[in-house]
Amino acid sequence: MTTQIALITGANKGIGLETARILGRGGAAVLLGARSAERGEPAAAALAAEGIDARFVRLDVTDADTVEAAAKWIDAEFGRLDILVNNAGITTTGATGFPPSRTSPDLVRTAFETNVFGVVAVTNAMLPLLRRSPAGRIVNVSSELGSLTLHGDPSSPVHGVNLLPYNASKSALNAVTVAYAKELAGTSITVNAATPGYCATDLNEHAGYRTPEQGASVIAGVALLGDDGGATGAFLSEDGPLPW
Ligand code: NDP
Repeated sequence: MTTQIALITGANKGIGLETARILGRGGAAVLLGARSAERGEPAAAALAAEGIDARFVRLDVTDADTVEAAAKWIDAEFGRLDILVNNAGITTTGATGFPPSRTSPDLVRTAFETNVFGVVAVTNAMLPLLRRSPAGRIVNVSSELGSLTLHGDPSSPVHGVNLLPYNASKSALNAVTVAYAKELAGTSITVNAATPGYCATDLNEHAGYRTPEQGASVIAGVALLGDDGGATGAFLSEDGPLPW
């Protein structure tokens, strides 16, 4: 079987790094996107030391030049891309945050720059390469906190977490997922949103109750869904589809 080529954004730590490790252990060549060489190179070297075909690629999802350069490099090096994991993400309000009425538009804008606009930029840059794959897979790393249905359910734990910038950005990411899935329906490329569950990482000051490895296994699982897995335009968790 041909080696799969997988690009994971924000892969120098947390769920992105563990997703790269799982895909790499499974035999994929993993391209670790990171905005800093100081953080990305050691992460790729650590995976390479485990026998994984791992390379660092400089990629700041908010910087169009690095996005374009990364796509050019992947084209020159591999000529195609099989898996794109849009994992890079930020929160701008800390783990606990503050109410919407005390949230500046700048905090919302900054969250959207990375969590939404960055995904659009990277996806558009990588799509020509994904179109050359026999079975392209795009996984957008979303969150239960993006589910408008769960926010509308007072009995849901999601209902109590009112982080405007982050939550709205993940709802928008879900909408972005649906839009690409519609455009690419009938092609060999699937596009899904997936949530890792609440994992202990720097993002939430390690408050999550799951490990990054557990979260990554959900993301990698969606990235590896076969043709018979069939899902596209879905919002998936470890326990199956989530409501939008
Ligand atoms: P981390 O903070 O551990 O990792 C985030 C990664 O994204 C880092 O590698 C970071 O790089 C990178 N990143 C941030 N901004 C950019 C950028 N502009 N360009 C490229 N890379 C960037 O968080 P997690 O591993 O927890 O988060 C990964 C994804 O999982 C996010 O999308 C998050 O929203 C999502 N998620 C996480 C949950 C959790 O419980 N942890 C739950 C649900 C979803 P750097 O080191 O340079 O900052």
